[in-house]
Amino acid sequence: MRRRFRLFRSLLQRLTADVGIDLGTAYSLVYVRNHGVVLNEPSVVALNATTRQVLAVGKEAKEMVGRTPGHIVAVRPLVDGVISDFEVTEAMLRYFLEQVHKQRIALIPRPRVVVGIPYGVTEVERRAVEEAALNAGAREVYLIEEPMAAAIGAQLPVQEATGSLIVDIGGGTTEVAVLSLGGIVTSRSVRTAGDELNEDIVRFARDEHNLLLGERTAEEVKIAVGSAWPLTEKLSHPMRGRDLVSGLPREVIVDSEAIRKAIDRSVRVIIDAVKLTIEETPPELLADLMTRGITLAGGGGLLRGLDRRLADVTNVPVHIANDPLTCVARGTGAVLENLDVLQGVLLPTAYRS
Ligand code: ADP
Ligand code: MG
Repeated sequence: MRRRFRLFRSLLQRLTADVGIDLGTAYSLVYVRNHGVVLNEPSVVALNATTRQVLAVGKEAKEMVGRTPGHIVAVRPLVDGVISDFEVTEAMLRYFLEQVHKQRIALIPRPRVVVGIPYGVTEVERRAVEEAALNAGAREVYLIEEPMAAAIGAQLPVQEATGSLIVDIGGGTTEVAVLSLGGIVTSRSVRTAGDELNEDIVRFARDEHNLLLGERTAEEVKIAVGSAWPLTEKLSHPMRGRDLVSGLPREVIVDSEAIRKAIDRSVRVIIDAVKLTIEETPPELLADLMTRGITLAGGGGLLRGLDRRLADVTNVPVHIANDPLTCVARGTGAVLENLDVLQGVLLPTAYRS
């Protein structure tokens, strides 16, 4: 009887849509076991500022930004790669799990959840994410550091006795890590990434053109013409904002040269983080890096010519991961699907039933 029950339970568990979650500073992605990435939404939560009631999460929350009455605020709970607000993080996790588990049948067990968290978060923050995921409906929670998940998603041989270098450039943070034998050997995280490049463009528009740009317009310009290495063909793009003198709308055409200069200081910070990490890498692993190269992940890895620039500065070949924006999510998915093999790359967790 007992055996049959166990068999039945394991069958049901197989039907559970176990999920991997990339809690990014800009975007959060959800991977469902055997399905792939099913959800990709901005890491934004809209709150009533006075009652702190959660009004919307994800796309809907992002659309509310700047268009809503004063008492509604939009929070990006992970903006600097730290979990700044426990309740808001929990609300976000709950929303994601609900999206995936909408049509659940009561009998099917709750999902196991693998969450990618920024490298170097404190023990307290780790606990907070774990509890948030359990409160949000997870049966079991596994935590993995984002650089590790990104490397697994990029199909680097993280468990082998060879060094792999991953650079994950997100919205709020750039994380650089050298991995070997299932662990992080050296790493560093800087709070200069995609958002900072947008801010550079806002500053450039204000200082050089007396133009007040919105953050989203700046991002659009960055993606349209931004670069870290001279382009063979100059690109240009309209930049629309408010003239700071007349207060009226105005359009300026900018080119890739100007934008490259505008973002250069931040690009250098990112490159220096990689250089410093390489300098701290044990010599045996350096030899591996020379042959395996550096792998770029995260949306920031798509900046034109960043691969070329990094290769030029470091003398190490640079590759952009396949689909860099989904590396972490696919990495958490690979862990879910191979828990027995990849168990060793997970962080210790406190509560596991
Ligand atoms: P996170 O993991 O922190 O949520 P992502 O890996 O999703 O971040 O990357 C988001 C960042 O990547 C944003 O700053 C976005 O502007 C930037 N980004 C996305 N596509 C491009 C592109 N083609 N060129 C340059 N930056 C990009
Ligand atoms: Mg990320």
